[in-house]
Amino acid sequence: MEYTKLNNGVEMPMLGYGVFLVSPQECERCVLDAISVGYRSIDTAQAYFNEEGVGNAIVKCGVAREDLFITTKVWITNAGYEKAKASIEESLQKLQTDYVDLLLVHQPYNDFYGTYRAMEEAYKQGKARAIGLSNFYAARFMDIAKFNEIKPAVNQLEAHVFHQRKEMRKYLERYDTKMEAWSSLARGGDELFTNAVLVETSKQHGKTPAQVALRFLIQHGVIVIPKSSHKERMIENFNIFDFSLTQDEMQKIEALDRATTLFMNHQDAEAMENIFARFKI
Ligand code: NDP
Repeated sequence: MEYTKLNNGVEMPMLGYGVFLVSPQECERCVLDAISVGYRSIDTAQAYFNEEGVGNAIVKCGVAREDLFITTKVWITNAGYEKAKASIEESLQKLQTDYVDLLLVHQPYNDFYGTYRAMEEAYKQGKARAIGLSNFYAARFMDIAKFNEIKPAVNQLEAHVFHQRKEMRKYLERYDTKMEAWSSLARGGDELFTNAVLVETSKQHGKTPAQVALRFLIQHGVIVIPKSSHKERMIENFNIFDFSLTQDEMQKIEALDRATTLFMNHQDAEAMENIFARFKI
């Protein structure tokens, strides 16, 4: 496992396991499988409704708490100082832990300023080892980074071979904020597994297109948290530290960038209205 140093000195694994769309019933088993494979970083969120499953796995896995790296995110409906503060306590209770390693604002909507203040407080109280953002586009990211005491350690965004976020990666460097990719496998869409460049590159290394897609991001310093409910795929996605892509291969994959979202544009009001409607917001 490779680690990266966050802007407050905390070490974070470059590869973690994400549990979005893992059902509450399956979550404990999935996280226990992932930890048995070797994953130490687990990415959940209040809005995934499976923090309890992650918590049960934390308690049962047999790995010391300090060797795990747990991330959760404060949801839009818990925004604002008071609500966010209460929701952080609730998350800790569900996760059965005194602290999370990384606490993120999930979306740049509602009173995210109040949320961030509650998170700064949690950080100072030792309830979060690092704090950061998710889905914050450049201007909103800059607003938080510039006008708050604690600089975001991470910005978690959609990023994969088809949406590489080159400009955002560069921008985040100004604040020494790490980029973390969600949907680093483009949600398992067939295109990623049949793309000629990825297939050819994977053959050169005796790897799979999924492994090449993850490796590409890692070599750009982007943290990845692929999700799978299948143990064999968890193993596949874990085995990405025993090969390197050449400069030529990296360039060919860079050419796959369409620089646009496959899933959700946080600056598109209509699209966000639809997403909020799904969550009954
Ligand atoms: P991913 O890009 O990780 O893709 C997950 C999908 O790919 C699943 O359908 C999985 O299927 C499939 N898959 C995984 N590995 C393989 C493989 N080796 N070969 C073939 N198919 C594979 O998408 P996610 O959207 O889940 O993103 C990952 C994590 O990022 C989430 O779990 C969550 O923690 C986080 N996230 C954060 C968001 C945010 O707003 N901050 C938004 C979305 C995600 P199967 O399970 O059947 O194996």
